[in-house]
Amino acid sequence: MQLRCYQCSWSFGVGKDEIAAALEALQASGGTHYDAHCPRCKRANKISLEQLKQSTPRPRPSEKPTA
Ligand SMILES: [Zn+2]
Repeated sequence: MQLRCYQCSWSFGVGKDEIAAALEALQASGGTHYDAHCPRCKRANKISLEQLKQSTPRPRPSEKPTA
């Protein structure tokens, strides 16, 4: 996902692997935000859990057809 640093307006990408790891860590710790550090100014940009979830293709829920 692409982020824009709130501090220096630098655009940088966060990889799928990093997002997946962040999601796991947040769900394990009960956190609500992930700090993505800007590669330019090193500021932590908060990404909400919702944003993380939306940026990853979620596993298809195994829907059972009710026939
Ligand atoms: Zn920055």
